[in-house]
Parts: sequence; structure tokens; C-alpha cells
Amino acid sequence: MNRIYADNAATTKMSRHATEVMLDVMENTYANPSSLHTPGQLAAVKLAESRQKIASILNCEPREIIFTSGGSEADNQAILSAAVIGEKKKKKHIISTKFEHHAVLHTLKKLEKQGFEVTYLDVHSNGIVRVEELEAAIRPDTILVTVMYANNEIGTIQPIRAIGEVCRKHEVLFHTDAVQAAGHLPLDVQADNIDMLSLSAHKFHGPKGVGALYARKGIAISTLIEGGAQERNRRAGTENLPAIVAMAAALEDAVANMEENNKYVSSLRDKLINGLSSIPHSTLTGDRENRLPGCASFCFEGIEGEALLLLLDQKGVCGSSGSACTSGSLDPSHVLLSIGLPHEVAHGSLRLTLCPENTPEEMDVIIQAVTDVVAYLRSISPVWNDLQKGKKEYVIQ
Ligand SMILES: *Cc1c(COP(=O)(O)O)cnc(C)c1O
Repeated sequence: MNRIYADNAATTKMSRHATEVMLDVMENTYANPSSLHTPGQLAAVKLAESRQKIASILNCEPREIIFTSGGSEADNQAILSAAVIGEKKKKKHIISTKFEHHAVLHTLKKLEKQGFEVTYLDVHSNGIVRVEELEAAIRPDTILVTVMYANNEIGTIQPIRAIGEVCRKHEVLFHTDAVQAAGHLPLDVQADNIDMLSLSAHKFHGPKGVGALYARKGIAISTLIEGGAQERNRRAGTENLPAIVAMAAALEDAVANMEENNKYVSSLRDKLINGLSSIPHSTLTGDRENRLPGCASFCFEGIEGEALLLLLDQKGVCGSSGSACTSGSLDPSHVLLSIGLPHEVAHGSLRLTLCPENTPEEMDVIIQAVTDVVAYLRSISPVWNDLQKGKKEYVIQ
């Protein structure tokens, strides 16, 4: 079957370039960068070059980049480091949002158990945090603001520069989970006043299991993994050099082609949004304008997202749902609830996330498939029957 992959927010296919670079390092530069012999030193050079490439893209110094096992680890390390700093200064208040990734939210929950207080800002119906509300939440004991750059389920982009300005003004640390943004949106930690930033290679056509944490110099970063002195004593363990070199190559490519890719991918997204919007009692989730170029996310009233996904899969369309079916939980997505959707609507969600390999023809196939499957599922849905007969009110008009 010809499959259409529209789940790029979950992970991307590695680019040919990143794959080639990775294979080359695996075959030819396998020595340990900490070894003193020549092959070891050649590996150390590749490591330094990769760090330099990523630093120049983020507009920071190479020593401000810590390589990690991915976005989750970078998020954990950033937040836990800020907590250690806060503990020392007797500042135990953190500001975040209701719709962060679980790598952030679960770390914050852990800190709440340790006596930290967390304010979870509302993201309103458009899925965008309001800077004036963020500023109003800052207290004398606030140590950290952590707000994602772009949301992974509904694709909404946060006013990162304005948030950075406010944090700088009030001398509060600012971390952003830029995992969905890196390679897709401009990154400049100086201009945006970002103190810590997380990224992950597999969201921009690099390998899985590798990421980076940018931490402004002077911020005391705590270790999550004890051992050797790698990463200037901030992350022990022999560096995953093949993946790190491939990540740098993938990020360089993504940034070099960003404008062109975004123009193309957003045209596909808009085609999808226009096509799917004609399904009755459906709604786009998240702001129409301030969204990632590749993200189309919807809710359809009267259906279950899981059933929709399975039937789409049978038609060769790979998407995902905001409802947490994969985690074995019946709770709908915290992201969809955070933008004010009621449970029954949040259950009928669909996220389609695109990349430059997708085609306009694929969008036509997806639109037809989703239209057909939604109609079928509604035809067998007792909830839809009640809505049609007027026994229940539609939430989505
Ligand atoms: C994917 C993702 C993560 C986790 O990154 P991993 O590299 O898979 O650990 C964190 N935050 C956001 C917003 C993501 O989309």
C-alpha cells in the first residue's frame, strides 16, 4: 500500500544527508573523542565542529551547548537546574503553561512534590499564552519561566521574544522547549533573551535519541547523569558522535532551506485546512495564523479519534490524535482541554503534520479519506444520532 506519512510532529524520517553523515562517522570516526590518540582527536574535532554549527544557528557560544539524549532530557535538565538555583536563593515559584509537553509538565509535577509552586498559565481558545498575564504572574520568588516555542499538538507559536523581554526585565530565568520549532522557525537566543532552550534532532529529519540543551553561560547547570567529564561536566557518558554530527547536518539543512520549505509546507497545510473545514461540525484547533507551517489539527464532533486513526491507517493515511490513546489512558489530551474544548469534543481529534516530502496530491487523498471516515463513523455513532435528532446540542456549530 502507498502510505502517506502525515505524523511529522511525532517524528520525521531521517534525511538522506543526515543518514549518510551518520553512517560515515560510524564507519570512519568511531574512536572516543576523549581518547588522546589521533583517531580520538579526530573524533573530538568532529564533535567540536558539530557544537560550533549548532551554536552559530542558535547565535550562542559552543560551550553553551550541551548534547543530550533528546528533547525530554534537555527539558528535564533545564528545569531541574533552575530548581536547584531557586532552592539556593529561596525562590521556589515557577511559571509555565497548561499545554506544555509532558517532559516539562511531569518535571514540574515532581518539583511541586518537593515544595515548589507552579503557576500554569491559561493558553485561551487560540492556544497562545498572553504576555501580560505572564508578567502579572511573576513574583519576587519566581525563579523560572518555561514556555514552549510551538505546541506539538495544535502547532501554535508562542510570543517567545516578548516573553524573553519580560523575563529579562524581571530577572527571571527563561527556558523554552523549542523541540517543535527548531529547524522550522527562526531561533536566536540573544535576540529572544532565552536563557535555556531544548531541541531534538528527530523532529527535523535527524536521528532519534539525540538533542541539545542551550544554557547561557553563568547558569549553573546540574547533572542528571553522573560519570565522566564530558560536556564540561554537565552530562556524563561517551558522546553519541554519529548522532550528534547527523543532528548538526540536519539542523543546518533545515535552516538553510527553511524559507522555501515553510512556503511549500504551509501551502499543503492550508490546502488540508481548507478541505477539512468543509466537514460539518468540525473545528481547527489552535490559532489559524500563528501556527507551525506543517500543522493541521482538527476536532470532529460525534466521533472517537482512535477509531478515526485506525480507519485512516487502513486507507494508508498516517496521522495522530490528541486523545491519549497511545498511553493507554482514556483521558483526552491536556492540550485540547487547555484550549477549552469539552471532553467529548477533545476525543474526536486528529493531528496531521507535514514535511517537504509530502505532495499536493497526497492532501487530496487525505481530505477524501478523512471526509469518508468521519461520515462513516458518524453513521454508526449513537452520540451523532442524538445530535442529529436534537436530543443533544452540538458543541461545534
Ligand atoms: C518530541 C517532543 C519532546 C520530546 O523530545 P524527545 O527527543 O522525543 O525526547 C519534547 N517537547 C516537545 C514539544 C516535543 O514535540
